[in-house]
Amino acid sequence: MTDCLFCKMVSGDIKADVVYENDQVLVFRDINPQAPVHVLAIPKQHVSTINDLTAADTDMIGQLYLAAKEVATQLGVAEDGYRTVMNCNAMAGQTVFHIHLHILGGRSMHWPPG
Ligand code: AMP
Ligand code: ZN
Repeated sequence: MTDCLFCKMVSGDIKADVVYENDQVLVFRDINPQAPVHVLAIPKQHVSTINDLTAADTDMIGQLYLAAKEVATQLGVAEDGYRTVMNCNAMAGQTVFHIHLHILGGRSMHWPPG
């Protein structure tokens, strides 16, 4: 998608602070971190929202979580714990319409989330 911020990070048109990458997934630091560790794991392929996923995306979604585990370990929050969040559409607060898994750690998390 030419008009998508996160697709531009995948293509390199916009610089991302990348912490992990493989053939399917890119993980980079959130520009407005909500925790000492706050990174976003995105598929390199464009999907706008969770509602647009199909069975063909099953492996890709699994790859996002495997990347989350790798990065949480790499950034030193795996043992203490971290939160993964994927917002879908307006009421959940989705602002970038290329799916992304938030990975937050380095502080205590509250439940229920706001
Ligand atoms: P969401 O509100 O779930 O759609 O999350 C979008 C996230 O993307 C927010 O946490 C933003 O801070 C983050 N974000 C927006 N623009 C950038 C950018 N250029 N680089 C890194 N993170 C970004
Ligand atoms: Zn995109």
